[in-house]
Amino acid sequence: MFPGASEYGVDIAVDDRAVEDLLQTSPSDIDAPPSLTFSRNVFVPLTTACRYTCTYCTYFDPPGQASLLSLEEVREICRRGADAGCTEALFTFGDDPDDRYTEIHEQLDEWGHDSIHTYLREACEVALEEGLLPHANPGDQTREQLATVADVNASMGVMLETTAEVGAHAGPRRKVPGQRLRTLKNAGELDVAFTTGILVGIGENWRDRAESLLAIRELHDRYDHIQEVIIQPVVENERWSDGSPDLATMRQVTAMARAALPEEVSVQVPPNLAPAADLIDCGVDDLGGVSPVTDDHINPDYTWPALRELEEIAASADLPLGERLPVYERFLPSDLRTDEFDGRVADGADGEREWISPTIREALEAGGSAGERYRAVLRDEVGAVSR
Ligand code: SF4
Repeated sequence: MFPGASEYGVDIAVDDRAVEDLLQTSPSDIDAPPSLTFSRNVFVPLTTACRYTCTYCTYFDPPGQASLLSLEEVREICRRGADAGCTEALFTFGDDPDDRYTEIHEQLDEWGHDSIHTYLREACEVALEEGLLPHANPGDQTREQLATVADVNASMGVMLETTAEVGAHAGPRRKVPGQRLRTLKNAGELDVAFTTGILVGIGENWRDRAESLLAIRELHDRYDHIQEVIIQPVVENERWSDGSPDLATMRQVTAMARAALPEEVSVQVPPNLAPAADLIDCGVDDLGGVSPVTDDHINPDYTWPALRELEEIAASADLPLGERLPVYERFLPSDLRTDEFDGRVADGADGEREWISPTIREALEAGGSAGERYRAVLRDEVGAVSR
């Protein structure tokens, strides 16, 4: 059992034999993908408050210094993104601000909210009004918290990071692997198309990496809800000086991810943090979100490559590059999928399971520039380079 798993009611066991097999995987066992994708997004750093203090993280600000965007600021960011041709509002967070963040809670209270989750719901509605599809990453989520915002998001996510206890999750309030797994499970139970990933180099060992990937696989096998798994190296910054994984490590772990996950789950590396061009042949088929208008607020020292650079990565691997929406097409019901879609449709997408809420469906079907922009991406009519 993983740390905290029983406390959070997560019944996941990974098979020792599967771990051993995965540890034997090497890049030479993996086929290159047929194509690469990316999504055009804007970062919306709704709050920089976070209950945790992970030692590799520069995103969170301590109490008294943390920011909380107003809805007007959210609207302004989203409007700029929509004008630049984006389709995704990526809401970034720390984890649920605890009681130390009195100013954040006072501000939320003034705006009529008793939690960051109900405020996020309003912010997602603003993004939709401005013509962007929300994808929120609000950290660990109870089932109730997730249900508060699920129908105003096209997809959501949280990094599992690792199923191991690591020293980098330091401080009196620490991330608990069981709670992260619970969040992934909650998303599956609520039919939320979900993004997760592992963070490489924070003190986990090779077995931990294999177990983390297999735990994601196990949850996906149950719920069919994982759309992509990010393989992210930890990087040096003002709070982290313990180094980054080298290329050989990244190649190996990326190949393990590709081997551990079924074909319909994309393997993503963030090209501003990882040497993406050197990882494509290890099974990477997605380059993540690229913002033409906002910084990567999670890793502000590492600017996003221009869209043109993504084209260069694709060209170096001799692969086509296509834009995608923040929700993968396999989660859309048949009347919203394109005739060209030839992947595996998500379980129940054509009937029993509502992967796309009426709100998101309405956005995808809307007239006007936003709906047309979404449909142009689905029809693969958008060039990779900013128009
Ligand atoms: S990595 Fe996430 S959970 Fe950890 S301190 Fe940073 S924002 Fe908080």
